Amino acid sequence: MALTTIDGAACAKCKFFDTEASGESLGLCRYNPPIGQANGDAAGVWPKVEASDWCGHFEPANA
Ligand code: SF4
Repeated sequence: MALTTIDGAACAKCKFFDTEASGESLGLCRYNPPIGQANGDAAGVWPKVEASDWCGHFEPANA
């Protein structure tokens, strides 16, 4: 279910949304660096977000 957003913000339209590794409706947010894992041996992970998610760091992909 899509949430009501401010000015139509949505991860799907954000320049930090990366679907290459995850698919059409689920993507990675590239706004921040990967998050390290507790054991320190595994590679850090990028936050997974739905295309209909959004946050206050939204920037239009075509801006
Ligand atoms: S979580 Fe925020 S910064 Fe990341 S892709 Fe979505 S709107 Fe953009």
